[in-house]
Amino acid sequence: MLRLAQGVGSLALQYALPRAAEALPAVAAAAARAVSGRGFSRYRTASGSMLDEPAMSAPKQGSTVVLVSGGIESAALLAYWKHWDHAQHLLPLFIDYGQKNVRQEEAAQQAMCRHLGLDFNAINASMVAHQLNMATVGAGRRYHDPLPHRNLLLLSLAASFAADSGAANIAICLNKDDLGVYSSASLPFLHHIESLYETLEPPIQLLMPLLALRKHQVITMGHQVAAPWHLTYSCAEGGAAPCGACEPCRGRAAAFAAAGVEDGLLSHHSAAQA
Ligand SMILES: [Zn+2]
Repeated sequence: MLRLAQGVGSLALQYALPRAAEALPAVAAAAARAVSGRGFSRYRTASGSMLDEPAMSAPKQGSTVVLVSGGIESAALLAYWKHWDHAQHLLPLFIDYGQKNVRQEEAAQQAMCRHLGLDFNAINASMVAHQLNMATVGAGRRYHDPLPHRNLLLLSLAASFAADSGAANIAICLNKDDLGVYSSASLPFLHHIESLYETLEPPIQLLMPLLALRKHQVITMGHQVAAPWHLTYSCAEGGAAPCGACEPCRGRAAAFAAAGVEDGLLSHHSAAQA
């Protein structure tokens, strides 16, 4: 577990193997092992493979801005780091970039932060996407993904927020299945962002703690640390209840099935309708 030790004028984090590591599945136990090195290098193995070693350990120094979206990965990572006593160093940050389901995502993230005892922070950048869509498809329409290269904007805004907050790290919740789905979620892009962050003064460390895990493995890990699935939201449509038919809904259902874990959101809605 993480232990806090009082340093000279600052808090220093010390690491040890997790408590009851044997009770965790192999993926989470491996993820909990402390790793050395910074950013991308922590994912590179002796064979040169980038993705073999999960690296879920909380950063050793400073606060961490965590880019969150109210979804599975946000819930799993925040619950995991809270489980290992890192909550007081976390700054969850939600960004409205004009996505169609933003109200549900934001409400989910607020509820999740309340549940976990974390502060909720938000930036409204919806006008950027709104103005782009005004020019291309007309006013009043909100796509699920209205902002090309959105991670470029999100990671830039997060850097400004980190500087303003005195945070030393920024974590992004991409999982292995997300990699390369679009260009601003590709390894070369993330590698460049990591380098870019290091040129800032003070430098910022980019963390991608879920990058080695597939979505169902994120669920397996999150299940072990009581991630509040019932408070998450994934549906692209933005309705009060998930539609069950869109790509995020289908991907979510498949991942929960592969993990053998009950989706608390669906049982929550079933109970509400009964
Ligand atoms: Zn849906």
